[in-house]
Amino acid sequence: MTAQLVSSSKPRILTGDTPTGSLHLGHWVGSVKRRVELQDSHECYFLLANMHAFTTRSEDPLGIRRDTIEIVRDYLAMGIDPNKAAIFLQSEVPAIAELTFLFAMLLPFNRVMRNPTLKTELELKGLSEKFSFGFPLYAVGQTADILSFRPVGVPVGEDQVPHLELTREVARRFNQMYCSVPTDAEDEDHEKLGGVFPVPRADVGRVGRLVGIDGKNKMSKSLGNAIFISDSPKEVQKKVNKIFTGRQSATEPGDTSNALFQFVDCFIADEARVAELKDRYSRGDNIGDGHIKAELSEAINALLTPMRERRAQFEGRDDLIVDIVHDGTARANRLTEQTLLRAKDAVGLKFWPRTLAM
Ligand code: ATP
Ligand code: MG
Repeated sequence: MTAQLVSSSKPRILTGDTPTGSLHLGHWVGSVKRRVELQDSHECYFLLANMHAFTTRSEDPLGIRRDTIEIVRDYLAMGIDPNKAAIFLQSEVPAIAELTFLFAMLLPFNRVMRNPTLKTELELKGLSEKFSFGFPLYAVGQTADILSFRPVGVPVGEDQVPHLELTREVARRFNQMYCSVPTDAEDEDHEKLGGVFPVPRADVGRVGRLVGIDGKNKMSKSLGNAIFISDSPKEVQKKVNKIFTGRQSATEPGDTSNALFQFVDCFIADEARVAELKDRYSRGDNIGDGHIKAELSEAINALLTPMRERRAQFEGRDDLIVDIVHDGTARANRLTEQTLLRAKDAVGLKFWPRTLAM
């Protein structure tokens, strides 16, 4: 099965999540829903970025370990099928670390620090005065996470687009510097022209940025503004009730581009109903925020109910989860060792082949 996967003719995708907490509705709409849709037509690799979690959470290794397992439970709950997609541990794929070191030489330091997502994270996570050397390195590491798999596309939320741009720059530079790909080559021709790496594109979902219940920032595991996939129906209701609109009464004309309606647009599937709610809300036609929030909670809970049921099968079964990740990591290593060897060959670092035993 594995050999088949490595040489599969299906287009390959890679994406992943950092174990800084459990997964939330932002992950579902921004990336995981797309992954579930693609797992039949694509060869899929989903990375648990447990090394990168140390950039902001090095004092809590047990928490990182716990959340790594929880994220897999969330994946399974959301419908990712480990028989189709390889779910793997970043820390157990050495090719990623080795390529990170090599790629770090291809990017000017100032270029990495200009990345707007890094800047926002430093600010929002209160790291501006005290971030580690490893923090900006994670952006370089992410280029290696991706390119180790030579994927055609990366399903991600909007905040990841700058990281993808950095990745595309690394791929182009590597191919030009070490594989004689001409500087004016089109991105899609790089592999045909002898480049080791494709220049992969970001595949942003329909909702690239779901707002958090604070109504301000992106919904984020580390910002305390998330509705988690594992939240109970009651918790969902409580959190939805907190979505801030600033509207005073049911007869006040409301702004349908506010945070509450961003959620309505994402989670109430009946388009005619959404149009009706928007019409009445914008006219202040005796429709309170509380009413809309009740309908919204119901819709979110309807989405989460089958996920809760699937999740229940893996509660208390960390052994099963570790098996799934072990299998996925073995698959990931078979592929990335091939990539690494080709990259080492291109830069004159190939002396002998090696095999990894797990
Ligand atoms: P952290 O707060 O630790 O950065 P996060 O909630 O931002 O965590 P990540 O692990 O950084 O989650 O992101 C994993 C994937 O989910 C990325 O592709 C990211 O773009 C996507 N994603 C995360 N939050 C959202 C959101 N609110 N809306 C859309 N996509 C999102
Ligand atoms: Mg993030």
